[in-house]
Amino acid sequence: MASPDTSQMSGAGPQTGALITPTQCEIHPPLIDIKPLNYVFDVGRAMSIWPLTFGLACCAIEMMSVSMARWDMARFGAEVFRPSARQADLMLVAGTVTKKFAPLVKRLYEQMPAPKYVLAMGNCAISGGPFKFEGNYSVLEGVDQIVPVDVYVPGCPPRPEALLEGIFAIQKKLVGCRFWPEPQAVAEKGADK
Ligand code: SF4
Repeated sequence: MASPDTSQMSGAGPQTGALITPTQCEIHPPLIDIKPLNYVFDVGRAMSIWPLTFGLACCAIEMMSVSMARWDMARFGAEVFRPSARQADLMLVAGTVTKKFAPLVKRLYEQMPAPKYVLAMGNCAISGGPFKFEGNYSVLEGVDQIVPVDVYVPGCPPRPEALLEGIFAIQKKLVGCRFWPEPQAVAEKGADK
């Protein structure tokens, strides 16, 4: 009897292919390369992040809650979830990435126009989370094996505040500064009242 094909039972597996590097996502030469103008564009990008409508497992429920009334990520310019990868500039990888689904995650990333960013939300997307154990053959141990990740938000699942902090980190990466008060400063202000 023929032995089973075990070639896809360890590591990223042949179906996931090589990691896409950040330089592969840049436009060379840039269409416009005037420093003050680039900064204005970056502020515009940071204040109008369009995430891809895309969820893989339970972390996606927390992601959805961030766009609703209580956490209201619209306050930070990032609520316009796009149904098409071609209109999105932020991939929120929220959930477990299986090796079977990994090529599709990679394809969605490739369809996004540059400049584009990836946020790995939750332990599954970061490292395989609770599915990382000896004998695991189906779960990718980190989405950074297939696409470049800009920000990691740990937790199982991370709370909505943590995801908001992750989005602030993406904004900071774009413009080099934080627009919003630090949580500590807000807490101290509340205590002063
Ligand atoms: S990190 Fe936890 S909550 Fe998030 S997808 Fe994995 S198991 Fe679910």
